[in-house]
Amino acid sequence: MPDPHVWFDVSLWAMTVKLIADRLSDFDPEHASEFIDNANALSAKLESLHAECQSAIAEIPKSQRVLITAHDAFRYFERAYGFQVKAIQGVSTVAAASTKHMEELTNFIVEHKIKAIFVETSVPDDNVKQLIESCEKQNHKLVIGGKLFSDAMGKPGTTDGTYIGMIRRNFKTIVKALK
Ligand SMILES: [Zn+2]
Repeated sequence: MPDPHVWFDVSLWAMTVKLIADRLSDFDPEHASEFIDNANALSAKLESLHAECQSAIAEIPKSQRVLITAHDAFRYFERAYGFQVKAIQGVSTVAAASTKHMEELTNFIVEHKIKAIFVETSVPDDNVKQLIESCEKQNHKLVIGGKLFSDAMGKPGTTDGTYIGMIRRNFKTIVKALK
């Protein structure tokens, strides 16, 4: 299954803006210059957001740049921000995790002394709790580093309900837990 979560590479997401402005201009040529101006302003904002995210990551020691999440939504994030990503579940949020996969993940976490794992606002966290318990059995304390937005943003009308706010919140949560 292809990974749809392209919005987690802010530099790629920024490339969609011009495309949308071009299409809108095709439909409504009278307002083309307005669309293009707005698109340029937004692209600039997103480019600086991307840079901000890259420097935020620098606070995390290289050995801790491992993101373990409930479902496999952060491959674009992984590539863009130099992380290693491991997920309990696949790209789909409905498939269950196998016992063998859970064992492998536990061993990886214990071996690499990973401090925190992340839950997601849109995915149930039963598997996450199970993983914490199996790390405990190997005398490794794994904590929940916080909730990440993966397939949904925050409530409309709040900062977390915007793309920029949602990305910033995720980075804050990740840096705080792993630095
Ligand atoms: Zn997803």
